[in-house]
Amino acid sequence: MTHHNLKNALENPVFNTVSQATSNLGLESYVIGGFVRDYIMKRGTAKDIDIVAIGSGIELAQEVSNLLPGKPKVSVFKTYGTAMLKTGGIELEFVGARKESYSEESRNPEVESGTLADDQNRRDFTINALAISLNEATFGALLDPFDGMQDIDNKVIKTPLDPDITYSDDPLRMMRAIRFAAQLDFTIEKGSLEAITQNADRIKIISKERIVDELHKILASKVPSKGFSLLHKTGLLPHLLPELVALQGIDEKEGQRHKDNFWHTLEVVDNIARTTDNLWLRWAALLHDIGKAPTKRFDKKIGWTFHAHEFIGSKMVYKLFKRLKMPLNEKMKFVQKMVLMSSRPIVLASEVTDSAVRRLVFDAGEHVEDLMTLCEADITTKNPRKFSKYHDNFKLVRDKIVEVEERDHVRNFQPPVSGEEIMNTFGLGPSREIGLIKDAIKEAILEGEISNEYEAAKDFMLKKGAALGLVVKK
Ligand code: ATP
Repeated sequence: MTHHNLKNALENPVFNTVSQATSNLGLESYVIGGFVRDYIMKRGTAKDIDIVAIGSGIELAQEVSNLLPGKPKVSVFKTYGTAMLKTGGIELEFVGARKESYSEESRNPEVESGTLADDQNRRDFTINALAISLNEATFGALLDPFDGMQDIDNKVIKTPLDPDITYSDDPLRMMRAIRFAAQLDFTIEKGSLEAITQNADRIKIISKERIVDELHKILASKVPSKGFSLLHKTGLLPHLLPELVALQGIDEKEGQRHKDNFWHTLEVVDNIARTTDNLWLRWAALLHDIGKAPTKRFDKKIGWTFHAHEFIGSKMVYKLFKRLKMPLNEKMKFVQKMVLMSSRPIVLASEVTDSAVRRLVFDAGEHVEDLMTLCEADITTKNPRKFSKYHDNFKLVRDKIVEVEERDHVRNFQPPVSGEEIMNTFGLGPSREIGLIKDAIKEAILEGEISNEYEAAKDFMLKKGAALGLVVKK
């Protein structure tokens, strides 16, 4: 083991305070995990700092608070033996070093106190087991029993102990391995990959919330396909998102093939990851084609079809969110809407008429740009001529959206003549006729027959009323 000194990582004065508190209590303490890893990888200094105490983490937290100006509040999590406090924009998390032993059914181990080495043994990956001493005599010394430094250099995810036991003990680590591989652009060492594959079905003991948390992080990474293809390769994906797995494969009938919609989807996700950080738009990209598996048919005349896959897909989004205990709120509705409308601009791109663009803007409302971003990401053709043609067409659509919107303002459409005014004009209460007239006005505006203005709409209302045999009330 090489002896590095990482004093520079401890420039933040809070580390001196922790060191002082550690001496006061006659303990030992170390900063460990993500903070150390990210410092070494030059990923910027993390805002979450994990401190392990050889002894009581809770007592150390309380002593640190005593030494800090204003004595910040210590939140104690008795069941986990941890404590947390916030100071100067960072979160310090304290835990007593521990030794863990696991049982079959649960990822919650039996815990007893242990040495630093015990605590490093229970860490998930060698790169997360690096610790820096906060003890006075050795302040800044790196403790790296598993050559995590080497693994950072080689960009590998590896477990400190037997991978089969590590992943089986806590199957969440399988998702974490893949998430770190995607986030940090690392490879997963062969033994780990095999153990994950071996233990994939143990993912069922992990809570949906934790799984989704990792999926979010994979989706938020620079090249999300890296994570999803690992989930696929290891056999985890069928347990998480079977709807995606169902998209895999190419069928051929009478010499006609369709594209592999699983790999296509991953390309779309990578494309959109280059243009947006909006996590929910990335989810929409991931799910935009899920309706294609249940709607796939072969028609002798037209070949492969996926009739109404957008509609079916948007229904599936609800079920999927519900199953994964994801929020069933406006985020879900947004994803549904993107899936439902995912083919609309494509139809448009071949012939960009004003009225079609007005309808698109009317239906997509405030999300019309997101929808265009999704459709552009959906272009995965390898034919460079087609690639630029499709992108150019979408540029035209985008220009037209701006032009039409400046003129007609249909994005957040409010009827220029209210239902109340129509009722008053013809001396009628709420009725079928009023509904018909309101609808006709909206249609006339979207079709471009009249402009989106009060005078034009009122004229139109009078004509439409007359046609329906209504008389203006004097
Ligand atoms: P990030 O903040 O990017 O998620 P992190 O490494 O700080 O990275 P945390 O989830 O905050 O991740 O975990 C802190 C440390 O706790 C990890 O670095 C690792 O040492 C340890 N750890 C977290 N989860 C596990 C686990 N499931 N099994 C073993 N060790 C874990």
